[in-house]
Amino acid sequence: MSDQPAHRADLRIDVAALRRNVGILAERARRSGARTMVVVKSDGYGHGAATVARAALAAGATDLGVASIDEGRQLRAAGITAPILAWLYAHDEDFAPAVAADLELSASSVAQLRAIAAAAAAQGRMVPVHLKIDTGLSRSGCPEELWPELVAAAAKAQADGDVEVAAVWSHLASADEPGDPSIDRQAARLRRAHEQARAVGLTPIRHLANSAAALTRPDLHFELIRPGIAAYGLDPVPQHGDHGLRPAMTFRSSVTMVKRIAAGESVSYGRTWTADRPVTLALVPVGYADGVPRRLSGALEVWLAGRRRPVVGRVCMDQIVVRCDDDEVREGDEVVLFGPGERGEPTAAEWADELGTIHYEVVSGMFRPRVTRTAV
Ligand code: PLP
Repeated sequence: MSDQPAHRADLRIDVAALRRNVGILAERARRSGARTMVVVKSDGYGHGAATVARAALAAGATDLGVASIDEGRQLRAAGITAPILAWLYAHDEDFAPAVAADLELSASSVAQLRAIAAAAAAQGRMVPVHLKIDTGLSRSGCPEELWPELVAAAAKAQADGDVEVAAVWSHLASADEPGDPSIDRQAARLRRAHEQARAVGLTPIRHLANSAAALTRPDLHFELIRPGIAAYGLDPVPQHGDHGLRPAMTFRSSVTMVKRIAAGESVSYGRTWTADRPVTLALVPVGYADGVPRRLSGALEVWLAGRRRPVVGRVCMDQIVVRCDDDEVREGDEVVLFGPGERGEPTAAEWADELGTIHYEVVSGMFRPRVTRTAV
């Protein structure tokens, strides 16, 4: 017996959809003469980093991007040999494991660059380094005024044979608002930073575009695009037209019990919903501990037996209760909490709208201890 029943709380990851989405992005990049790095940080936005990495590489991606060094090492442990860039470190990060795992690293300061170069020298290796310039997001990245110093240190480390300056890069603040003037301002700063690197004899590529910019600004593809969310089939710029993406994650459960209650009976904690006539209820064994936000109580719908049906009463820790106005529902029936939306089921984007957040947050938080995840 499996210790996790497949149909209690189950994430289905549609590998064909991942491939198709990455294929769309990689084709756009190719038309600009650019490569595609798919971002698989945070366990592939909750989809499974190794699954996504394999699908992405099969569909035309050349590189992978992760936040932490551990994430990069986990991909290596899963047998992924493609170039992997890791860009987010602790203040006292030990770069030796990253060098040993053949990761590419980002440097936002002279101190980071020196620590990376020292780790490379200690192992007799040369590490590809992507110099990050802060062009306006004010997160990691070298401030413009310190850039000449970083570029000079990088040129020296490259001459010493410890690093190869592979790229100059940055990240956009408002790419999902096409037309926002900050986008061009950031691109101009990146171009300037790149020219300064070339002026000291370095020959790095440039990369800036996340999914939104990859989809809306081919002129900013530079030599590499760096999409995440679009690879998962979630469109960051739906207002910009249909990009043909297909959500890869479906969150499912199944009916454990069907019961009737009489008019006047209430459902779930706090008795927030009362039947005004006899109704059939379907009990579904997923709750807020499985990623169904309690805040969606009263607003949640599921796809069950061929139609959308409302969840009534409060979302509990382990259960929800679905109101059925017909007798078509049976124990064991599949319940889709969200999916691609093609059958009419709710989507992660709808959950995000209802919750006042973004679909990134919905999908990246779905994989939890009691939830199974299956790539299909
Ligand atoms: N590049 C960096 C540095 C990121 O942090 C991210 C994700 O936040 C991405 C690229 C991918 O962004 P998106 O998922 O919007 O395509």
